[in-house]
Amino acid sequence: MSHLDLRGGTPACADDGVWLTCIECGETFAAFQEVRYTCDDCDGLLEVRYDDLPTWEEFAGTGVWRYAAALPFDEGVSLPEGATQLHDVPRLESDIGVDRLRVKHEGMNPTGSFKDRGMTVGVRVAKEVGVDRLACASTGNTSAALAAYGARGGIETLVLLPRGKVAAGKVAQASLHGARILEVDGNFDTCLDIVQDLARQGKVYLLNSLNPFRLEGQKTIGLEILEQFRDEEGSYPDRIVLPVGNAGNTAALYKCFRELQETGALAPAEVPALTGVQAAGAAPMVEAIQEGTEDTRRWEEVETRATAIRIGNPVNAPKALPGIRETGGTAVAVSEEAITRAQRDLAEEGVGVEPASACSVAGLRKLREQGVVGAGEQVVCLTTGHLLKDAEAAVRAGTEPEPVPGTTGGVLDYLGD
Ligand SMILES: *Cc1c(COP(=O)(O)O)cnc(C)c1O
Ligand SMILES: [Zn+2]
Repeated sequence: MSHLDLRGGTPACADDGVWLTCIECGETFAAFQEVRYTCDDCDGLLEVRYDDLPTWEEFAGTGVWRYAAALPFDEGVSLPEGATQLHDVPRLESDIGVDRLRVKHEGMNPTGSFKDRGMTVGVRVAKEVGVDRLACASTGNTSAALAAYGARGGIETLVLLPRGKVAAGKVAQASLHGARILEVDGNFDTCLDIVQDLARQGKVYLLNSLNPFRLEGQKTIGLEILEQFRDEEGSYPDRIVLPVGNAGNTAALYKCFRELQETGALAPAEVPALTGVQAAGAAPMVEAIQEGTEDTRRWEEVETRATAIRIGNPVNAPKALPGIRETGGTAVAVSEEAITRAQRDLAEEGVGVEPASACSVAGLRKLREQGVVGAGEQVVCLTTGHLLKDAEAAVRAGTEPEPVPGTTGGVLDYLGD
């Protein structure tokens, strides 16, 4: 049984028209009276529900909080975030061979990844429930975002990182923003297991994407894409392609579409096909889509240069898999070489992204070559994090520096001009 259906009356436990529902058994819980991440009865994932769902006319202002009418609060702990570029990439568009290709660059958020959209809401909720210590497990970007938003909100922050597996730029952010950084002897999935235990024992407030409020903030990526694309192209995109790690974004975009459909703001035929991309070395979601299962099998060993999505046990799979299926999307795995090629392709258009982000473009190219994506499609690729997050990967993928003498004549000789 699935309770992804948004219909149903407001339960008595609702605070100000907001409550939580278990997506597996339908049990409802108060939103802010107690801290809870999963269902008390069946351990299922929770989803935020509202009495009132907004229409397009209710949105005003810019960034994440433009969409306050679709969020649990009117304002958050903000830096501010959202309102990211929707780039034209004309050469890539014709090279891949689709009717229209735009790139939504989430690396342009305050800490350089889309995680900021979730944290502005999540840290606001932490203040509401009155916790004194925030925590997350992270492949890097979640920790950078939580450290910054925790600092902004004046709350102690603890981050658990897989030792030796996080890009330097991301550790630098967590460090300078003053988080306590625990380097765990294990991979990301081990870090998440531990931080979930700490949260269950009441030691920390968990701000991984298991926290349903984070996904509310990330929902605004979908709202922004739809509005920007509609205003500039005259229609909604046929497809949104995104890199998938824990599948929080995939789940958040699907929730965005379901809420808009519920109010009639988006017709069923207008819902973009959600298309998830993983690195071949960490592809449990792709496996689940291919095999038609309702959850993923945990991959114990994962490896890819796309460190942000080096995840073997995507916690949001039960929310995200129906999203991919119901919107007519798919999931595809890409090789390490294809990831670097896509990173270069984007850079040639002036768009600098970290390896995980390039997966969206690599996946689109592969699906277009396979004929799964048609030439007539209008597509938005999501790029999730900034180039400088992983400077080492950028240096490996880019041009080599060339040593020259310290004189103009010497430089001209070297250039042979
Ligand atoms: C977190 C992250 C992802 C994965 O997002 P999920 O919501 O966990 O699927 C992809 N790319 C980057 C750069 C990220 O930081
Ligand atoms: Zn339940």
